[in-house]
Amino acid sequence: MTPIRRVLFRFFENCTSPVSLEDIQGKCFGKKHSADFATVYRQLETLVEEGILNRSDVPGKKQYYEVRNIHHHHFLCTKCQEIQCLQEQVIRESLEEVFFQIQKQGMEIDSHILSLSGTCKKCKGY
Ligand SMILES: [Zn+2]
Ligand SMILES: [Zn+2]
Ligand SMILES: [Zn+2]
Repeated sequence: MTPIRRVLFRFFENCTSPVSLEDIQGKCFGKKHSADFATVYRQLETLVEEGILNRSDVPGKKQYYEVRNIHHHHFLCTKCQEIQCLQEQVIRESLEEVFFQIQKQGMEIDSHILSLSGTCKKCKGY
């Protein structure tokens, strides 16, 4: 395993929401590492191809990455730009019901994007 890869694996172990390329670069490869942007980006894309990471499905936030896990949706705070994972099963179940109704009309759905944005708890000042 290359050193960059090892650092990335360790970093994503403690990640609970998608992180931007800039943040990954900054947090993992600060001053003392020589890995440049392009190298980190290439490595992240390789991990996506290998099915280990997912690229964010939030519009305009393609350079956010997270560990691939069960399908879920995201909330983007338009103030601090942070993306939070919404693991609520009720969202998945409601969508399945919607898809079921639509497929009954004869359409076949093979992809979807559900994107929620607004102000997060922190930015609201709580
Ligand atoms: Zn979905
Ligand atoms: Zn916020
Ligand atoms: Zn997520």
